Order: sequence, then C-alpha cells, then structure tokens
Amino acid sequence: MIKQVPLLINGEFIISKSTQLIDVTNPATQEVIAQVPCATDEEINLAIETAKDAFEIWKERSVGDRARVMLAYQALLKEHQEEIATILSKESGKTLPDAMGDVWRGIEVVEHAANVASLTMGETLENVARKIDCYSFTQPLGVCVGVTPFNFPAMIPLWMFPIAIACGNAFILKPSEQNPLTPNRLAELFIEAGAPKGILQVLHGTKEVVQQLLVHPDLPAISFVGSVAVGEYIYRTGTDHMKRVQAFAGAKNHMVIMPDAAKKQVINNIAGASVGAAGQRCMAISVAVFVGESKNLIPEIKEALAKVRPGAWDDPEAGYGPQINPAAKERVLKFIAEGKAAGANCILDGSDVVVEGLEKGNFVGPTMFTNVTTDMSIYTEEIFGPVLITLEVETLEDAIALINENPYGNGTSIFTASGAAARKYQHEIKVGIVGINVPVPVPLPMFSFTGWRKSFYGDQHAYGKQAVRFYTETKTVTARWFDEDIDTGVNTTIDMK
Ligand code: NAD
Repeated sequence: MIKQVPLLINGEFIISKSTQLIDVTNPATQEVIAQVPCATDEEINLAIETAKDAFEIWKERSVGDRARVMLAYQALLKEHQEEIATILSKESGKTLPDAMGDVWRGIEVVEHAANVASLTMGETLENVARKIDCYSFTQPLGVCVGVTPFNFPAMIPLWMFPIAIACGNAFILKPSEQNPLTPNRLAELFIEAGAPKGILQVLHGTKEVVQQLLVHPDLPAISFVGSVAVGEYIYRTGTDHMKRVQAFAGAKNHMVIMPDAAKKQVINNIAGASVGAAGQRCMAISVAVFVGESKNLIPEIKEALAKVRPGAWDDPEAGYGPQINPAAKERVLKFIAEGKAAGANCILDGSDVVVEGLEKGNFVGPTMFTNVTTDMSIYTEEIFGPVLITLEVETLEDAIALINENPYGNGTSIFTASGAAARKYQHEIKVGIVGINVPVPVPLPMFSFTGWRKSFYGDQHAYGKQAVRFYTETKTVTARWFDEDIDTGVNTTIDMK
C-alpha cells in the first residue's frame, strides 16, 4: 500500500478526506513513493480558522520566546540535515551533496530568524515637538501564506515560514505537490522544536488549493516562488484581493566572460553553474556571453560540460540528477529540437542520454549551443534543463545592453580580472543578484534575494531584512510626555514651539 502524505492542521498530521490523489515519484526510476492529496475545502477552512486562533496567542508571546523556538529548530535541522537531504534526494532526484546544500541554505535562514529581536526593532526620535517623542513598532500581520516550487523543497519553504512566524505571524504552507515529503519532515521538526499548535499548517494540493488561499479575505499576505506565468497570476489575483504579494518567478541568467578572465576559473565554474542540478535552479547560468577573444574558451567549456555525468541521487560520481518529471524532460527536449531547427549549432547534445540501470529516469545529458540569436526560443524562454547557450559580442557595453534587454532579471555574473569592468558591470546591469567571479551569487539572508523585472513581482524581497518588512506592519506612536504645569486643555493643533 502506498503511503499518503498527511496534511498538518492545528498541530495534527491528518490523512485528508480528499479522493483526489497525486503520485509522488522518484524521478530517477518512476517508482511511486507516496501519494499526495489535494486538501478539501473543509480542510482548507479548518486550517485557516485554527491558524487564526494560534496567531492570537503567538503574537502575545515574548520576542525571546519566538527566537528560542527558532534556535531549537536550527539545532534540530542541523542534527537531521542528512536525513532530510535523503528524503529530498529521493523525491526530487537531486544528488545527495546538492540536497545537503538545499537544506543548509534553509538552515541559514532559520539562524537569521532567531535574530528576530534586532530585525524587528522600531525607531525612536526624541523631541519631534516640545516634549513630544515619536517611535515606531513592528507588529505581525496575521495568517500568512507560502506557495513553493519543486526545485528547492527545503530551502524555499524555509525562506518563508521561519521569518514570518518569528515575526509573530501564523503561516499556511502549500508546498509543491511534486515533492511534499521534505516540507512535511521540516514541519515535524518545527513542532518538535516547540512551535505551538496551529502556528504552521501544511496544506497539500495543486492550483485549486492555492486559489482558495489567494482569494480568502482573512489571509493578508502571500509569498510565492515558481514559474513566471503562475507568479504573474498570483500577483494579479492576490493584489486584486487586497493582499500583500511577493512573487519570485523564472529566470534566464547570463554569465559574461571577459577576455582577461581567469581561464580555469571560468571553465570549472560554468560547468557547475549551467548543468548542475540538471539546470533546475532559478539561479542557474543558462547563457554564456563571450566578449571578444574569450570565445576561444568554447571548446574547453564544451569538454568540461561533456565530462559531467547525470545519475541517481546516491551515485557519488553523478554530477546531477534527472528532470523532475517526464513532462519536464519532454519540455527540455522540445527546446533542444527547436534550437537545432532554428539554426543554432548544437555542439554537445544530451537528448539521447540514458543512464545505465535507470532507463526510465528523466535524464537529459549536458547540452551546449553556439550560433544562437536572441530571437530563438532557446534564448527567449527559460528551459530549466542542463542546456548552456552561448552568444558572442564585441564589447562589455554590448554585453550589458544585451542582458538589459532580456525580460528576466534574477541573477547574473561577470568573470574578469579588471576592477573597472567589474565596477561598470555591477553598476549598469539591470539584474537583482550580481556575481563578480562568482557564478551563482545567491546572497546570505543578512541580505535579501532580489530578482528584478519578470523574475519578481511585488516590493519586498525574500528572507532577509526585506522579508521582515513584508511580514510586519509598522505602527508609529507620537507621544506627549507632559509636566503638570503644561496646559492640557482643548487643543486641536500640536504645539510646535
Ligand atoms: P510552478 O509555477 O509550476 O509551481 C509553483 C507552485 O505554484 C506549486 O506549489 C504549484 O502547485 C503552484 N501552482 C502551479 N500552477 C498554479 C496555478 N495555475 N495557480 C496557482 N498555483 C499554481 O513552478 P515549479 O515548476 O514548481 O518551479 C520551477 C519554477 O520556479 C522555475 O520557473 C524557476 O525559475 C522558478 N523559481 C524561481 C525562484 C526565484 O527565487 N525567482 C526560485 C526557485 C524557482
């Protein structure tokens, strides 16, 4: 009998009454490892109502209490990191080291959330008028919602609920239906860490569940991470329903290679950044832009990519795993075929790759294109597969202009030995996350994850300072501290003397 993934409602893991079940498969084998339900309306409403009750109690708990839950949670996550990474690998196909990284990046956010006292401090200003002081507090919003994608089943839920809950909110998480076992394990450990009943609820399902949360009047804020089409929909619908929305979406990340770049560094870094995690990273480098003579590196980059071998999660020799499902693999193959048909030169073709013993796995081999033009679908669309496309330009200015025309603005990097070129690039590029001689420059949570343009809709970014602002309201108090001899009679204006 196949295990059904429980929902977490009001502190209890319960089996859904839903008859709509979706298979959770190991993408390297197609073995069905669990089934995930689509929560019923009744279950969704119960989760919302009990989260509202939990919020009323939690928001009154001291800031120290809230921080201590995060400290205990951080310790538990560290203790269970490999166990979580193993669950994650099996349901997502990621190699174990990659899955360990996924969990670790989430742990770092929990560490940051434990610092909630200093993150949520208000401001004070004395004497804004005679004997009048002004100060502000931050207060939580209520029950916040998170909708997360398949590609980081530990890190992305951990971007959201620890920060929101540390700020005093309750949280409803709707994880990807493709790998729900990892978020459930994260939730179990959160309860073990002392999180009170109902403060985190986990509802499984697909777009129907999201839709209910998106339009519900008692849920003031929604954080989303996923594809562009869904992100746009979430942003429009959520704001139409007067909610705060932060929606992190797709990407097309360029790496600029200057002629003076350190050759070995470029070759080693670009291989991991482009085909690592089977290209299923929103920060993957999918376009290499060669400036001038740096194009001479293309044969060696091709050689480096060709050496990366896909394989199963527990194969220590595997460079990366399969695409998440057969449809995702078909989509990548469709783009490769379109690139060839459009006249691009496929100098490395992973379309027919088969991993021995895992013939049913959704594997695509490393693939690389040259002679690409900006009108081809392999350039205009996010492929989300192990495919590197290359473009050649004459100058740094040309590279900057090309990238600034691209509708996405998630991440980018430049490899160069020139401080002047790097400074120009960091200043002029219209992309939110920039690496200088760093290929996948995801910032630590003291900063924020800051995609621009089509890669992000909303106005406060993920997990750092800006996320704290997203999950809180500011209350400003103006107070008159008076002596007995001040006239407190009827006064309709503030005395500014
Ligand atoms: P997806 O958009 O298909 O799904 C994301 C979530 O939205 C899932 O929980 C899913 O159940 C839900 N969903 C799907 N369709 C919906 C609909 N019509 N209405 C409401 N909810 C819906 O994304 P995915 O395939 O899981 O993830 C891959 C995408 O996520 C890529 O485009 C990648 O670039 C992007 N991503 C972005 C970031 C970032 O920070 N910008 C990080 C990771 C992934």
